[in-house]
Amino acid sequence: MSAGLKPCPFCGEKTCLWTDEISPKVWAICCSTCKAIGPESEFGWEWAAIKWNVRPGEHAAVQSVLDQALNSGDGAYRP
Ligand SMILES: [Zn+2]
Repeated sequence: MSAGLKPCPFCGEKTCLWTDEISPKVWAICCSTCKAIGPESEFGWEWAAIKWNVRPGEHAAVQSVLDQALNSGDGAYRP
């Protein structure tokens, strides 16, 4: 599952990225090239993917999306 993921911010890897359940109910994006793991998400891999795609300067915009989703009720991610 690498669809929609931005390139690795550490090594630039574009394809060898996947989401993994790194511990029970904790998901993160993993880079097979530089072994980067993160950011962790307790709301499923969709949240990990959203957080992964956040780049410097984009935190405010993404945070508002997260807040909207969380305030919508059950915290489920809705594309
Ligand atoms: Zn990498």
